[in-house]
Amino acid sequence: MIEIDGSEGEGGGQILRSALALSLCTAQPFRIFNIRARRPKPGLMRQHLTAVQAAATIGHATVVGAEVGSCELTFRPGTVTAGDYDFAIGTAGSCTLVLQTILPPLLTAKGRSRVRITGGTHNKAAPPVDFLQRAFLPLIERMGPRVTLELVRHGFYPRGGGEIVVTVSPTSRLERLSIPERGALVSREADAYVAGVPLHVASRELQVVGRMLSWPEDVLHVRGLPGDMGPGNALTISVGHEQVIEVFTAFGEKGVSAEAVATSAAAQTQAYLAGGAAVGPHLADQLLLPMALSGGGTFSTTSVTDHFRSQVVVTQRFLSIEPTIDGRGSIIIVRL
Ligand code: ATP
Repeated sequence: MIEIDGSEGEGGGQILRSALALSLCTAQPFRIFNIRARRPKPGLMRQHLTAVQAAATIGHATVVGAEVGSCELTFRPGTVTAGDYDFAIGTAGSCTLVLQTILPPLLTAKGRSRVRITGGTHNKAAPPVDFLQRAFLPLIERMGPRVTLELVRHGFYPRGGGEIVVTVSPTSRLERLSIPERGALVSREADAYVAGVPLHVASRELQVVGRMLSWPEDVLHVRGLPGDMGPGNALTISVGHEQVIEVFTAFGEKGVSAEAVATSAAAQTQAYLAGGAAVGPHLADQLLLPMALSGGGTFSTTSVTDHFRSQVVVTQRFLSIEPTIDGRGSIIIVRL
């Protein structure tokens, strides 16, 4: 039985989600203790519990310790089965993080899957749906499977109520992915979403983006959503190069000005554009697991984060991968 100390490295929910995905993909049971020990409220919250239950459902697993607040869990996977699934988080917890847990095994399952998840779609500290649609999934599709992600309804913290529907047409074996360079710039746009928040908040955010990035008005979009989806505000900035699209996000919060939200997203974009690496910090940690499952791959990144290092550690418990990380100025090359 693989033993995982959830307080290692970054010490958050990512270690658990990756362990669940890897356990299903490699048919190896594991026990995790000290779950989310480095978070203010350790243990399983609704979103993590839904991820555990979703993983157990698609993989016919036997689980001990699947309760809100639990800091220890044993997971024994069965056979991963493609199909029609419906998972409700029941709070504004992140739908995309639940998807991150069950997508890897479904990519190579025997048959097509359709998964509906309800909860939050645009949450702080999680990939917004736009990031998965534009940045992450096109790269996964280059590995062989076909994945569509439909955003049925936006869901923001604290109200939730969002919905995504994902379809997966699997491949028998994931192909290796290589993205050493980003290529030339081909597209750029910023989307400011507001629900139950005045439209001028979105306009002010886009003004800051336009000024900081020297972008024209026709690539800056106010996206007004029905008030009953709110209150919520998210700003996504997408930059497409020939080899990869990146999406940088900031979320509106009570007490934080529209200008400060926009400055955060635009500064992330400026930092990425100033370097030459293909992927930013979030894509780097999220690509590691599918690349490891495919048997290897290469990408260049702007930064190697604690999340990335934690992903390496948990992946190495299930698969024998040895990343080589070479620094070349502002570009870091990761080879598996
Ligand atoms: P928890 O609160 O559940 O313990 P966690 O601490 O593991 O969760 P994070 O580790 O902060 O949560 O992030 C989880 C994942 O979300 C990581 O893969 C990270 O790259 C991704 N992520 C966070 N913010 C963004 C963003 N703005 N865009 C894309 N991905 C993001």
